[in-house]
Amino acid sequence: MSKNVRCYPIQTYQNEIKNDLILDLYSEYRKYYEYQIHKQYINYQQTGYLNKSIDTKNDNSLLSERYKRNAVYQVCGQLQSWLSNRDNKIKDIVHNNESLKDKEKRILHLIRRNQIQKEQTLTILYSKDNKKKGIKKGDIKEEVFIPKEYIQIYKSILRQIKWRLPTNKRISMQLNVNVCQLIKKQTKYKKLNAHNFDYWFELSTLNKGQKTYIPAKMNSYLKEQVGQGKLLNSVRIDFKGSLISFNLMINKEQKDYESEIDSIGIDFGTKHLFALSTGNIFGVSFGKQLKSYDAKIILLQKRLQHQGIRPSSSKRYRRLVFKCREFIKNEINRNFNKIIKEIKPQEIALERLDFRHSKLNKTMNRILRKCGRSVIKSKLQTLEKDYGIQVIEVNPAYTSQECNNCGFVHKNNRNNRDQFKCQICNYKKHADINASRNIQSRSSCAVLKGKSCKRTIKKHLFDQFKRNILQCDKSITGFVSPNSRAIFLDFKPLTFQDFYGLIKSGNKLKV
Ligand SMILES: [Zn+2]
Repeated sequence: MSKNVRCYPIQTYQNEIKNDLILDLYSEYRKYYEYQIHKQYINYQQTGYLNKSIDTKNDNSLLSERYKRNAVYQVCGQLQSWLSNRDNKIKDIVHNNESLKDKEKRILHLIRRNQIQKEQTLTILYSKDNKKKGIKKGDIKEEVFIPKEYIQIYKSILRQIKWRLPTNKRISMQLNVNVCQLIKKQTKYKKLNAHNFDYWFELSTLNKGQKTYIPAKMNSYLKEQVGQGKLLNSVRIDFKGSLISFNLMINKEQKDYESEIDSIGIDFGTKHLFALSTGNIFGVSFGKQLKSYDAKIILLQKRLQHQGIRPSSSKRYRRLVFKCREFIKNEINRNFNKIIKEIKPQEIALERLDFRHSKLNKTMNRILRKCGRSVIKSKLQTLEKDYGIQVIEVNPAYTSQECNNCGFVHKNNRNNRDQFKCQICNYKKHADINASRNIQSRSSCAVLKGKSCKRTIKKHLFDQFKRNILQCDKSITGFVSPNSRAIFLDFKPLTFQDFYGLIKSGNKLKV
């Protein structure tokens, strides 16, 4: 089922006999569903694919062929999302395994992605312009040998995760037109027009050729929803004990959107609103305007206090706060729209939100925290629904002190608000852009994405940094003094502070 299809329950009016017919059907459907889950999974293990057109003729069931095919589709949909969740989990496990080298991790990812079962040489094509459409001239070809041992390591990782297959517990019946038709009033079915119903569900039953008709009535909310999208022909029936509830399915269209960049990180600031890992800054004058509202609010607060009036009882004050909220809301929405239009990301990574700005007064901070957070949250939800953009929240600890080049974390990396300068590798960048890049790279790491405490995060960042320095990671640009390596080898520092102290004292000795 596509992400944009939403279900809305509709009131139906069926008698006991029809109720029983549906419950009998459901009980048989569930049995077959369970059987099909296992059949598909075995097929997946053998071929690497789910098979929507798998043969069902000889399956033992009271269901008609049409119902069986319907169940196959529903099972495949459910298994597909189960498999992709499992895949993400494996991805994280490989990624976060500290005993593996990056090269080894890559091989494991290749095995995962290509479902490799036997030792072989894999040919990988990289397209030049970073788009995955077909093979073009100038594409780079790489051959990677996948040794047997790694396939075994991969299999042992798979065994670590004890994932249970989905079951038929609490399933709904998602029925297509082959077994259940939605018939609107005033159609060729004259006999159905006798009553004051908006729709009829024409449902095939377990008895061959026999159909039952379930009448349904709309309410005003439902009418409004149908008006906003396309009413689909399929129907979902939910079950809770012997309670049966029919649902209309409405496709609320996703806007035409083709992303141009896989993932971006966004840093929220109260000076500039958004700094992006792509280097763009949006809402440049946000802070300035915010400050001007701030000044106005303080001034009015003082004046009212002088007159002995409580701010909340002043109409003027309330209007000012309202205007300020509207400003924040508009700026956030406007700039998000701009990002969608100009950058076109597929995935947005951001920090778990927390607005703070020491230079603004208490009231202003509160407005920003309360209003900004909820506006951003709801805007992101619409982006997800309308454009299919994924939103990933990462742990906010130390994003502003971490060097995106070498991974060194220290408060001295930030000698003033706007400029980031790494004390180890001399990497210089706009401070918010550096932070947004950290946010972006955190989006693929389970630990840095998670809700761990600051200490755990710092420890993880330190280990990452140590690895960078010791492996002389080629991805680090600029100068990392050979000293840094020697310090790790000779003194084995355990924290950034230790390391920084050693570097500092070394410098002093040299001078
Ligand atoms: Zn650095």
